[in-house]
Amino acid sequence: MPFHGTNVESRSHRRVFVRRWACLVWLAAGMLIPAAYAQTPAPAQWIDVHLHLIGGRGQDYAGAADTAIREMDRFGIATAIVLPPPQIDRQPVYDASSFTGALRRHRGRFAWLGGGGTLNSTIHRYADPAKITDAVKRDFAAAADKIIDDGAAGFGEMASLHISAAEGHPYEFVPADHPLFLVLADVAARRDVPIDLHMDAVDGGMPTPTRFAKSSNPPQLADTMRGLARLLAYNPKAKIVWAHGGSDPLGAMTPAAIGRLMEAHSNLYVSLRIVGAQAPMTNKALSGGGLDPDWKELLSRHPDRFMIGTDSFMVSASVRGGGPGVTFAQKNTPTLQATVHFLSLLPPDVAARLVRENAMRIYKLPPK
Ligand SMILES: [Zn+2]
Ligand SMILES: [Zn+2]
Repeated sequence: MPFHGTNVESRSHRRVFVRRWACLVWLAAGMLIPAAYAQTPAPAQWIDVHLHLIGGRGQDYAGAADTAIREMDRFGIATAIVLPPPQIDRQPVYDASSFTGALRRHRGRFAWLGGGGTLNSTIHRYADPAKITDAVKRDFAAAADKIIDDGAAGFGEMASLHISAAEGHPYEFVPADHPLFLVLADVAARRDVPIDLHMDAVDGGMPTPTRFAKSSNPPQLADTMRGLARLLAYNPKAKIVWAHGGSDPLGAMTPAAIGRLMEAHSNLYVSLRIVGAQAPMTNKALSGGGLDPDWKELLSRHPDRFMIGTDSFMVSASVRGGGPGVTFAQKNTPTLQATVHFLSLLPPDVAARLVRENAMRIYKLPPK
Protein backbone atom coordinates (compact mmCIF):
# COMPACT_ATOMS: atom_id res chain seq x y z
CA MET A 1 0.00 0.00 0.00
CA PRO A 2 1.44 3.44 -0.96
CA PHE A 3 2.11 5.99 1.77
CA HIS A 4 -0.41 8.69 0.77
CA GLY A 5 0.72 12.25 1.33
CA THR A 6 4.40 11.45 1.88
CA ASN A 7 7.29 12.35 -0.34
CA VAL A 8 9.98 9.95 -1.44
CA GLU A 9 12.45 11.10 1.22
CA SER A 10 10.16 10.49 4.23
CA ARG A 11 9.09 7.19 2.70
CA SER A 12 12.68 5.97 2.65
CA HIS A 13 13.20 7.19 6.25
CA ARG A 14 10.15 5.26 7.25
CA ARG A 15 11.53 2.14 5.55
CA VAL A 16 14.82 2.38 7.46
CA PHE A 17 12.87 2.91 10.70
CA VAL A 18 10.65 -0.11 10.03
CA ARG A 19 13.65 -2.22 9.07
CA ARG A 20 15.49 -1.28 12.30
CA TRP A 21 12.49 -2.17 14.41
CA ALA A 22 11.93 -5.41 12.54
CA CYS A 23 15.56 -6.28 13.21
CA LEU A 24 15.24 -5.56 16.95
CA VAL A 25 12.01 -7.54 17.22
CA TRP A 26 13.65 -10.44 15.36
CA LEU A 27 16.67 -10.37 17.71
CA ALA A 28 14.44 -10.26 20.79
CA ALA A 29 12.31 -13.12 19.46
CA GLY A 30 15.46 -15.15 18.78
CA MET A 31 16.49 -14.73 22.41
CA LEU A 32 13.05 -15.42 23.83
CA ILE A 33 11.83 -18.32 21.72
CA PRO A 34 14.07 -21.10 23.11
CA ALA A 35 12.52 -20.51 26.55
CA ALA A 36 9.08 -19.72 25.17
CA TYR A 37 8.70 -22.84 23.06
CA ALA A 38 8.21 -24.83 26.24
CA GLN A 39 4.68 -23.40 26.05
CA THR A 40 3.93 -24.34 22.41
CA PRO A 41 0.73 -26.43 22.53
CA ALA A 42 1.20 -29.97 21.23
CA PRO A 43 -0.29 -30.74 17.80
CA ALA A 44 -2.98 -33.37 17.97
CA GLN A 45 -1.88 -36.94 17.62
CA TRP A 46 1.54 -37.24 16.05
CA ILE A 47 3.67 -40.35 15.60
CA ASP A 48 7.15 -40.80 17.07
CA VAL A 49 8.99 -43.45 15.04
CA HIS A 50 12.04 -43.75 17.31
CA LEU A 51 11.60 -44.35 21.04
CA HIS A 52 13.55 -46.51 23.52
CA LEU A 53 12.43 -48.18 26.76
CA ILE A 54 14.73 -48.60 29.76
CA GLY A 55 13.61 -51.43 32.02
CA GLY A 56 16.80 -51.69 34.10
CA ARG A 57 18.21 -54.88 35.65
CA GLY A 58 14.70 -56.04 36.52
CA GLN A 59 13.69 -55.69 32.83
CA ASP A 60 10.65 -53.73 33.95
CA TYR A 61 9.41 -52.82 30.47
CA ALA A 62 5.83 -52.60 31.74
CA GLY A 63 6.98 -49.73 33.99
CA ALA A 64 8.96 -48.15 31.12
CA ALA A 65 5.87 -48.37 28.86
CA ASP A 66 3.82 -46.65 31.59
CA THR A 67 6.38 -43.80 31.67
CA ALA A 68 6.22 -43.62 27.87
CA ILE A 69 2.41 -43.40 27.85
CA ARG A 70 2.50 -40.56 30.40
CA GLU A 71 4.99 -38.57 28.28
CA MET A 72 3.17 -39.40 25.04
CA ASP A 73 -0.09 -38.07 26.49
CA ARG A 74 1.68 -34.94 27.71
CA PHE A 75 3.14 -34.14 24.29
CA GLY A 76 0.34 -35.33 21.97
CA ILE A 77 2.02 -38.51 20.70
CA ALA A 78 -0.67 -40.93 19.51
CA THR A 79 1.64 -43.82 18.61
CA ALA A 80 5.31 -44.54 19.20
CA ILE A 81 7.54 -47.08 17.52
CA VAL A 82 9.77 -48.70 20.12
CA LEU A 83 13.09 -50.19 19.11
CA PRO A 84 15.91 -51.95 20.93
CA PRO A 85 19.09 -49.82 20.72
CA PRO A 86 21.92 -51.07 18.47
CA GLN A 87 23.82 -53.46 20.76
CA ILE A 88 27.01 -55.52 20.53
CA ASP A 89 28.21 -58.69 22.26
CA ARG A 90 29.95 -56.81 25.11
CA GLN A 91 26.52 -55.72 26.39
CA PRO A 92 23.71 -57.79 27.96
CA VAL A 93 21.93 -58.03 24.60
CA TYR A 94 18.13 -57.84 24.48
CA ASP A 95 15.71 -57.55 21.58
CA ALA A 96 12.07 -56.64 20.97
CA SER A 97 10.83 -59.95 22.40
CA SER A 98 11.73 -58.56 25.88
CA PHE A 99 9.19 -55.75 25.66
CA THR A 100 6.43 -56.73 23.22
CA GLY A 101 4.28 -58.14 26.07
CA ALA A 102 4.41 -54.76 27.84
CA LEU A 103 3.56 -52.88 24.62
CA ARG A 104 0.60 -55.11 23.72
CA ARG A 105 -1.14 -54.02 26.94
CA HIS A 106 -1.55 -50.51 25.45
CA ARG A 107 -3.64 -51.23 22.39
CA GLY A 108 -2.94 -48.94 19.44
CA ARG A 109 -0.30 -46.86 21.23
CA PHE A 110 2.82 -48.76 20.18
CA ALA A 111 4.44 -50.61 17.30
CA TRP A 112 7.97 -51.97 17.40
CA LEU A 113 11.05 -52.82 15.41
CA GLY A 114 13.35 -55.75 16.14
CA GLY A 115 16.94 -56.73 15.49
CA GLY A 116 18.78 -54.00 17.40
CA GLY A 117 19.90 -56.71 19.84
CA THR A 118 20.24 -59.98 17.92
CA LEU A 119 20.85 -58.89 14.31
CA ASN A 120 23.00 -55.86 15.10
CA SER A 121 25.27 -57.81 17.45
CA THR A 122 25.68 -60.48 14.73
CA ILE A 123 26.63 -57.89 12.12
CA HIS A 124 29.28 -56.38 14.39
CA ARG A 125 30.57 -59.80 15.49
CA TYR A 126 31.21 -60.45 11.79
CA ALA A 127 32.71 -57.02 11.15
CA ASP A 128 35.37 -58.82 9.10
CA PRO A 129 33.45 -59.99 5.98
CA ALA A 130 36.00 -62.78 5.36
CA LYS A 131 34.45 -64.71 8.29
CA ILE A 132 30.93 -64.71 6.84
CA THR A 133 29.94 -68.11 5.44
CA ASP A 134 26.77 -68.98 3.54
CA ALA A 135 25.47 -70.65 6.74
CA VAL A 136 25.94 -67.38 8.68
CA LYS A 137 23.96 -65.52 6.00
CA ARG A 138 21.22 -68.15 6.00
CA ASP A 139 20.84 -68.12 9.80
CA PHE A 140 20.87 -64.31 9.81
CA ALA A 141 18.10 -64.11 7.16
CA ALA A 142 16.02 -66.69 9.07
CA ALA A 143 16.39 -64.69 12.32
CA ALA A 144 15.34 -61.54 10.45
CA ASP A 145 12.26 -63.25 8.99
CA LYS A 146 11.28 -64.52 12.45
CA ILE A 147 11.37 -60.93 13.82
CA ILE A 148 8.79 -59.86 11.22
CA ASP A 149 6.75 -63.08 11.76
CA ASP A 150 6.60 -62.13 15.46
CA GLY A 151 4.95 -58.80 14.68
CA ALA A 152 7.72 -56.21 14.19
CA ALA A 153 7.01 -53.37 11.75
CA GLY A 154 10.62 -53.42 10.55
CA PHE A 155 14.24 -53.74 11.63
CA GLY A 156 16.05 -51.49 14.07
CA GLU A 157 17.90 -49.95 15.52
CA MET A 158 20.71 -51.11 13.30
CA ALA A 159 24.11 -49.40 13.37
CA SER A 160 26.73 -48.71 10.73
CA LEU A 161 28.76 -46.03 12.54
CA HIS A 162 27.62 -45.44 16.10
CA ILE A 163 29.83 -42.96 17.94
CA SER A 164 30.16 -43.55 21.66
CA ALA A 165 28.75 -40.50 23.42
CA ALA A 166 28.95 -41.75 27.02
CA GLU A 167 30.40 -44.46 29.24
CA GLY A 168 28.62 -47.76 28.45
CA HIS A 169 27.38 -46.41 25.07
CA PRO A 170 29.39 -48.43 22.55
CA TYR A 171 31.43 -47.39 19.52
CA GLU A 172 30.36 -49.55 16.57
CA PHE A 173 31.39 -49.49 12.95
CA VAL A 174 30.82 -51.51 9.81
CA PRO A 175 30.12 -49.89 6.43
CA ALA A 176 26.38 -49.69 5.64
CA ASP A 177 26.94 -52.05 2.69
CA HIS A 178 28.47 -54.77 4.91
CA PRO A 179 27.42 -58.19 3.48
CA LEU A 180 24.94 -58.85 6.33
CA PHE A 181 23.34 -55.42 5.78
CA LEU A 182 22.81 -56.51 2.16
CA VAL A 183 21.17 -59.75 3.37
CA LEU A 184 18.95 -57.65 5.66
CA ALA A 185 18.07 -55.30 2.77
CA ASP A 186 16.86 -58.30 0.75
CA VAL A 187 14.69 -59.55 3.63
CA ALA A 188 13.33 -56.02 4.23
CA ALA A 189 12.47 -55.66 0.53
CA ARG A 190 10.80 -59.08 0.38
CA ARG A 191 8.75 -58.40 3.55
CA ASP A 192 8.14 -54.74 2.57
CA VAL A 193 9.35 -53.35 5.91
CA PRO A 194 11.87 -50.58 6.58
CA ILE A 195 15.31 -50.71 8.21
CA ASP A 196 16.00 -48.03 10.82
CA LEU A 197 19.69 -47.17 10.45
CA HIS A 198 21.89 -45.28 12.86
CA MET A 199 24.81 -44.07 10.79
CA ASP A 200 26.76 -41.07 11.99
CA ALA A 201 27.73 -39.23 8.83
CA VAL A 202 31.40 -38.98 7.83
CA ASP A 203 32.25 -37.70 4.38
CA GLY A 204 35.69 -38.98 3.37
CA GLY A 205 37.11 -39.75 6.84
CA MET A 206 37.99 -37.40 9.69
CA PRO A 207 39.78 -37.27 13.04
CA THR A 208 37.42 -38.00 15.94
CA PRO A 209 36.22 -34.66 17.36
CA THR A 210 37.74 -33.92 20.76
CA ARG A 211 34.37 -33.99 22.50
CA PHE A 212 34.15 -37.73 21.66
CA ALA A 213 37.83 -38.46 22.38
CA LYS A 214 37.28 -39.78 25.93
CA SER A 215 34.95 -42.69 25.14
CA SER A 216 35.78 -45.92 23.31
CA ASN A 217 36.03 -44.17 19.92
CA PRO A 218 39.15 -44.60 17.75
CA PRO A 219 41.23 -41.50 16.88
CA GLN A 220 40.15 -41.59 13.22
CA LEU A 221 36.69 -42.16 11.71
CA ALA A 222 36.23 -43.80 8.30
CA ASP A 223 33.94 -42.51 5.54
CA THR A 224 30.33 -43.67 5.92
CA MET A 225 28.46 -41.77 3.18
CA ARG A 226 29.63 -43.98 0.32
CA GLY A 227 28.60 -47.19 2.09
CA LEU A 228 25.10 -45.77 2.56
CA ALA A 229 24.84 -44.84 -1.13
CA ARG A 230 25.89 -48.40 -2.08
CA LEU A 231 23.33 -49.93 0.33
CA LEU A 232 20.57 -47.76 -1.16
CA ALA A 233 21.58 -48.71 -4.71
CA TYR A 234 21.96 -52.43 -3.90
CA ASN A 235 18.23 -53.07 -3.43
CA PRO A 236 16.03 -50.07 -4.28
CA LYS A 237 13.00 -51.92 -2.85
CA ALA A 238 14.56 -51.89 0.66
CA LYS A 239 13.40 -48.76 2.48
CA ILE A 240 16.13 -47.27 4.66
CA VAL A 241 15.08 -44.87 7.42
CA TRP A 242 18.26 -42.95 8.27
CA ALA A 243 17.85 -41.91 11.89
CA HIS A 244 18.66 -38.66 13.68
CA GLY A 245 18.40 -36.07 10.89
CA GLY A 246 18.38 -32.52 12.20
CA SER A 247 20.84 -33.19 15.06
CA ASP A 248 24.15 -34.37 13.68
CA PRO A 249 27.07 -35.06 16.04
CA LEU A 250 29.81 -35.08 13.36
CA GLY A 251 28.91 -32.51 10.68
CA ALA A 252 28.30 -34.35 7.36
CA MET A 253 24.53 -35.00 7.70
CA THR A 254 23.72 -31.72 5.99
CA PRO A 255 20.40 -30.92 4.30
CA ALA A 256 22.35 -30.69 1.02
CA ALA A 257 23.88 -34.17 1.41
CA ILE A 258 20.52 -35.71 2.37
CA GLY A 259 18.87 -33.97 -0.60
CA ARG A 260 21.46 -35.35 -3.03
CA LEU A 261 21.03 -38.90 -1.68
CA MET A 262 17.22 -38.61 -1.80
CA GLU A 263 17.30 -37.44 -5.38
CA ALA A 264 19.53 -40.39 -6.37
CA HIS A 265 17.70 -43.03 -4.27
CA SER A 266 13.92 -43.21 -3.95
CA ASN A 267 14.26 -45.70 -1.04
CA LEU A 268 15.87 -43.24 1.40
CA TYR A 269 13.80 -41.82 4.26
CA VAL A 270 14.98 -39.78 7.24
CA SER A 271 13.60 -39.58 10.76
CA LEU A 272 14.22 -36.23 12.40
CA ARG A 273 15.54 -35.86 15.93
CA ILE A 274 14.80 -32.26 16.86
CA VAL A 275 16.93 -30.94 19.70
CA GLY A 276 16.79 -27.80 21.81
CA ALA A 277 19.04 -24.77 21.67
CA GLN A 278 21.56 -26.14 24.19
CA ALA A 279 22.33 -29.44 22.44
CA PRO A 280 25.92 -29.60 21.09
CA MET A 281 24.94 -30.76 17.57
CA THR A 282 25.50 -29.52 14.01
CA ASN A 283 23.08 -29.23 11.07
CA LYS A 284 20.16 -28.59 13.41
CA ALA A 285 16.71 -28.38 11.82
CA LEU A 286 15.60 -26.08 14.64
CA SER A 287 18.14 -23.33 15.17
CA GLY A 288 17.84 -20.09 17.12
CA GLY A 289 14.23 -21.01 17.87
CA GLY A 290 13.32 -21.03 14.17
CA LEU A 291 13.11 -23.48 11.30
CA ASP A 292 16.48 -23.59 9.52
CA PRO A 293 15.92 -22.32 5.92
CA ASP A 294 17.93 -25.11 4.25
CA TRP A 295 15.96 -27.72 6.16
CA LYS A 296 12.68 -25.97 5.34
CA GLU A 297 13.55 -26.08 1.65
CA LEU A 298 14.51 -29.78 1.81
CA LEU A 299 11.36 -30.78 3.72
CA SER A 300 9.20 -28.88 1.22
CA ARG A 301 11.02 -30.55 -1.70
CA HIS A 302 10.65 -34.12 -0.30
CA PRO A 303 7.69 -33.98 2.09
CA ASP A 304 7.00 -37.72 1.69
CA ARG A 305 10.41 -38.80 2.95
CA PHE A 306 10.59 -37.45 6.51
CA MET A 307 9.22 -38.50 9.87
CA ILE A 308 9.75 -37.57 13.51
CA GLY A 309 11.88 -39.92 15.59
CA THR A 310 12.69 -38.26 18.90
CA ASP A 311 15.14 -40.92 20.22
CA SER A 312 13.60 -40.44 23.68
CA PHE A 313 14.55 -42.90 26.44
CA MET A 314 11.60 -43.79 28.65
CA VAL A 315 12.78 -45.13 32.01
CA SER A 316 10.70 -47.28 34.36
CA ALA A 317 10.07 -45.67 37.75
CA SER A 318 11.52 -48.87 39.29
CA VAL A 319 15.00 -48.32 37.79
CA ARG A 320 17.67 -47.49 40.36
CA GLY A 321 21.13 -46.32 39.33
CA GLY A 322 22.47 -44.90 36.10
CA GLY A 323 23.67 -45.93 32.67
CA PRO A 324 23.59 -44.15 29.31
CA GLY A 325 19.81 -44.59 28.82
CA VAL A 326 19.09 -42.96 32.19
CA THR A 327 21.50 -40.12 31.35
CA PHE A 328 19.95 -39.59 27.89
CA ALA A 329 16.45 -39.62 29.44
CA GLN A 330 17.26 -36.30 31.10
CA LYS A 331 16.98 -34.76 27.62
CA ASN A 332 13.46 -36.08 26.98
CA THR A 333 11.55 -32.99 28.06
CA PRO A 334 13.65 -30.39 26.16
CA THR A 335 13.69 -32.69 23.10
CA LEU A 336 9.93 -33.18 23.12
CA GLN A 337 9.31 -29.46 23.72
CA ALA A 338 11.64 -28.60 20.83
CA THR A 339 9.89 -31.16 18.59
CA VAL A 340 6.44 -29.78 19.30
CA HIS A 341 7.70 -26.26 18.60
CA PHE A 342 9.36 -27.42 15.36
CA LEU A 343 6.10 -29.03 14.19
CA SER A 344 4.25 -25.76 14.83
CA LEU A 345 6.63 -23.95 12.43
CA LEU A 346 6.17 -26.28 9.43
CA PRO A 347 3.99 -25.36 6.44
CA PRO A 348 0.66 -27.19 7.07
CA ASP A 349 0.91 -29.58 4.08
CA VAL A 350 4.45 -30.62 5.10
CA ALA A 351 3.44 -30.94 8.76
CA ALA A 352 0.54 -33.30 8.03
CA ARG A 353 2.86 -35.74 6.27
CA LEU A 354 5.70 -35.52 8.82
CA VAL A 355 3.43 -35.74 11.82
CA ARG A 356 1.50 -38.82 10.77
CA GLU A 357 0.94 -39.80 7.13
CA ASN A 358 4.48 -40.88 6.23
CA ALA A 359 4.90 -43.04 9.33
CA MET A 360 1.51 -44.71 8.77
CA ARG A 361 2.51 -45.60 5.20
CA ILE A 362 6.15 -46.60 5.71
CA TYR A 363 5.63 -48.69 8.85
CA LYS A 364 2.16 -49.84 7.68
CA LEU A 365 0.56 -48.87 10.98
CA PRO A 366 -3.09 -49.88 11.32
CA PRO A 367 -5.51 -46.94 11.10
CA LYS A 368 -7.18 -46.22 14.43
ZN1 LIG B 1 20.62 -43.97 17.24
ZN1 LIG C 1 18.00 -44.64 19.09
